[in-house]
Amino acid sequence: MGFVPSGLTRVFAVLGRPVGHSLSPRMQNAGLRHLGLDGIYVALEASDADLPGLLLGLARAGGGGNVTLPHKERAARTVEAPSERVVRTGACNTFWLEDGVVRGDNTDVAGVRRSVQRLLGGSAQGARVLLLGAGGAARAAAVALREEGADRVEILNRTADRAVELARALDDPGLVPLRFPPGPDDRWDLVVNATRLGLSQADPLAIEPRARMMGAILDLVYAPGSTTLVERARSLGIPALDGTEMLLQQGMEAFRLWWGVPAPELPMREALRGGAEEGPGGAASQREAEGEGEAAAPPAPGEAGP
Ligand code: NAP
Repeated sequence: MGFVPSGLTRVFAVLGRPVGHSLSPRMQNAGLRHLGLDGIYVALEASDADLPGLLLGLARAGGGGNVTLPHKERAARTVEAPSERVVRTGACNTFWLEDGVVRGDNTDVAGVRRSVQRLLGGSAQGARVLLLGAGGAARAAAVALREEGADRVEILNRTADRAVELARALDDPGLVPLRFPPGPDDRWDLVVNATRLGLSQADPLAIEPRARMMGAILDLVYAPGSTTLVERARSLGIPALDGTEMLLQQGMEAFRLWWGVPAPELPMREALRGGAEEGPGGAASQREAEGEGEAAAPPAPGEAGP
């Protein structure tokens, strides 16, 4: 027999638009059931206008949740006590009630940090990093990489001005926008893909992996099995991880904030793996999972996130 809610069941939701492809309910409920906690996690589609009411209502009722595109910035303005990371990134992906106050955090930062640690087998202390992209994920990654001790994060984006804006907004001399593609003599300890390239199998690679130039590659995009970028990197002997790790790690950090206990990694990881293979629409749909398309877009090729 499955879970039977009680009168005290805490209700959590991922709020987004579209949100029907989210793997978070699968992942979070696996953790809840494993620990026998009296909570449930669902996906709720929210319009811009409804987001603040839903977020505050869920939290005030003793639950909480995640926020995904296109609402992370609005959520940052809605929560009553934003964490330092929310203030720094301007984005909130996790909310809950604590001491009568609706708190918000950005666990994407923790998600990137832990993915980096797992990939490098330690911190990024002193590393030179190439960060591809200048959107919301790149912003969380830039903050995470500097928190991890990266010495210099060079930001390369299709629209070069956005890389300049990102570095300026974070006001950190360790973040260096690049105006031109790097040359053959450049070398990075780590390359992070925070662009949308890789969501569709037809996409070109965000960067051509080169063992001489790249110590490791972290792709924030995820796809069934792994992304083409990660597969190509591994075939050249470059250690690489795709965005499934970030998805898991940001979710585990949120779980810990809501429940005050460490999230059970194994069942949550297994649930994600199962979702990738059997999720709505089958394997191909993981590229569409965690739909973070623009408000009016159809369940667009899957940006990840909660
Ligand atoms: P975003 O704010 O819309 O930014 C998209 C970025 O991709 C921009 O830098 C954009 O460059 C670049 N881009 C888009 N199309 C491109 C193309 N054809 N060629 C080169 N660059 C292109 O999106 P986001 O929220 O940062 O998300 C970025 C990626 O991170 C998504 O693929 C998403 O799956 C992933 N993500 C993963 C997780 C996770 O948990 N694993 C969490 C969050 C996000 P321009 O500025 O030039 O448009």
